[in-house]
Amino acid sequence: MHSADGIQYIASPLFPAKEVNHAFLSRIGGVSEPPFDSLNFDNRDTDTSENIEKNRDKLSKALDVPVKNIVLVNQVHGSKVLVIKDSNHAGQPIVEADAIITDVAQVPIGIMTADCLPVLIYDPAKKAVAAVHAGWKGSAGGVSIEAIKAMRLQYGSDPKDMVAALGPYIGPCCYSIRENVVAEFKNRFGSYTGYIQKFKDEIRLDIGLANIEQLTGSGIPKANISFEPVCTSCNNALFFSYRKDGGRTGRQLSYIMLKGS
Ligand SMILES: [Zn+2]
Repeated sequence: MHSADGIQYIASPLFPAKEVNHAFLSRIGGVSEPPFDSLNFDNRDTDTSENIEKNRDKLSKALDVPVKNIVLVNQVHGSKVLVIKDSNHAGQPIVEADAIITDVAQVPIGIMTADCLPVLIYDPAKKAVAAVHAGWKGSAGGVSIEAIKAMRLQYGSDPKDMVAALGPYIGPCCYSIRENVVAEFKNRFGSYTGYIQKFKDEIRLDIGLANIEQLTGSGIPKANISFEPVCTSCNNALFFSYRKDGGRTGRQLSYIMLKGS
């Protein structure tokens, strides 16, 4: 864990700090009251806009990121990718999507989670970034694959050049699923390896492993993926966990931004 002005966050050693500004933020370091304590960025529930504004200000100052320019999406557990082509998105109506890509500098793109997996991707060759929201449904829909496809199409990116990092998510230690989830993975991928396992009389899903398979299957070298599994449910004091917190909780933000020259 890194720390800046009381904000605690995870950062990947694979993203060069000179070129990109990124973080997987924890819930630590904000002003929101329980059950949104404390670094909450989502006002869909009943946290106040004032608190979220204060949290955004704190983040701006602590990590030197222009949060006023941040692009967020209305995450719907799908696999649609939003392409950001200019820096005029602040204040625009929020779009339904589960991945964002951009090659515009100084525009942070962000994903909010509480158990789902955030994935950040950087292509240092074409200077482009992606932020992906991958819960079980998005993962079963191949959302990471779609994000990489969109980067190839929009920027001519070669996955061999890309680096990717996985953030905190609910681990297989705490995430049991039903047969309908298994069926969706089967429908999309035909088979699945390793990431769905039987444990006693439960079926457990590892969303991280599922997405690593999508990233490597799309051509990103395994050595270019950083993955330090931290379970949001086991580490509920550090991270919002929708399941552990009983459904009413905040959302931690993961973001990435091209610094530009
Ligand atoms: Zn766990």
